[in-house]
Amino acid sequence: MSQLRDHLSQRALGVKQSAVRDVFDIAMDPNLVSLAGGNPWLDDLPLTELSQTAADLVAKHGTESLQYGTGQGTDEMRAAACTVMAADGIPDADPEHVVITPGSQAAIDTACRAFANPGDVVVVEDPTFVGALTTFTTWELDAVATGTDDQGLVPEQLDETLTRLKDEGRRVAFLYTIPSFANPSGALLPTSRRDEVAAICQKHGVLIVEDNPYGQIAFDGNPVEPIAARHRDNVVYLGTMSKIFSPGVRIGWALVPAALKREFYLSAESAFIHASTYSQMLSTSFVNDFDWTGHVAHVTQLYRERANTLVGAIREHWDPAVEFIDPRGGFFLWATLPEGVDTLEMMAEGIKAGAVFVPGAAFTPVEGTHSTLRLAYSFVSAEKLTEGVRRLAPVVNEAVAR
Ligand code: PMP
Repeated sequence: MSQLRDHLSQRALGVKQSAVRDVFDIAMDPNLVSLAGGNPWLDDLPLTELSQTAADLVAKHGTESLQYGTGQGTDEMRAAACTVMAADGIPDADPEHVVITPGSQAAIDTACRAFANPGDVVVVEDPTFVGALTTFTTWELDAVATGTDDQGLVPEQLDETLTRLKDEGRRVAFLYTIPSFANPSGALLPTSRRDEVAAICQKHGVLIVEDNPYGQIAFDGNPVEPIAARHRDNVVYLGTMSKIFSPGVRIGWALVPAALKREFYLSAESAFIHASTYSQMLSTSFVNDFDWTGHVAHVTQLYRERANTLVGAIREHWDPAVEFIDPRGGFFLWATLPEGVDTLEMMAEGIKAGAVFVPGAAFTPVEGTHSTLRLAYSFVSAEKLTEGVRRLAPVVNEAVAR
């Protein structure tokens, strides 16, 4: 056993067995109310019609649906990705600049392959997506946190961070950011800040990787224009079918500036050859043949109601010293307890009380104790959300009082 473990690379050993992995395993326990996993709600998909479409794909496309395809993705899926991006707020994406990937997680990995050397810095907003942090560690990159407030990235702090890194002689591979309804914070970066962030990155010669899985889950029905809409030349924009259709189909994409596209898709090919042909066909059909925008509008309404329920329950049951960002879209609510509280410790008590959340430590490269936590409302009924908050109340309120 120990000898076998000698075969593990430094890289594999460096990936933190994060508290979050444990949380997600624990969260499967049916006796717990899980506010941990940000799964999309799939029950309201048109499942009968979809199963017919899925069955018809092989009949309609023959062996093509089961065959190898091209590295960049099918023409039809790249066109469908452009349709989705138009609804995100990028009306004129060129399908020639799109690379289809098995989800945006794979696109993040591809960005590391294509743009980063071992030891480089990736600048991340703090907090940021745990899956991206894991990928950065895998590629032996140094994730450097830059500050946020309840509206996301703080431009002045980004400028300071990039200036400091330049003074230290560090190579910055890219800025990784989730400007719309971020995971985990739910924050929405205002348009003015988007322009500032783009200008700062331009000034420092830093590429932006903009990850936008939640942009269309806007509770007011108006997605905010992505950074890539106005600053295309310096942005690699990531989209996905995961939140608007299905994460199980594993279809996402990157919209890549022309000058970077070739290396990007060669990097992608070296990892996975191409995304599943069959899944690309199913996703294409969802966009072309179904009322997909109607589905997004419907689930967005559902998420909005759930977010409202969650906010109401927190206001009723939790000490007002707990601050949180009121979600305006997406899947998550981010709460901050008074300084000194360790939410990693609190998690164990929460599980004993019958509910589970993800402690903030998972979402930051900054070591130490963290008094933050993430609650996901996307996959939990209103009754269960309230029940979860109620179960956690004694744990939270005691931690605040301590
Ligand atoms: N980026 C962010 C910000 C996410 O929240 C997620 C999913 N949790 C992903 C990427 C990965 O999504 P996909 O299923 O497209 O790989």
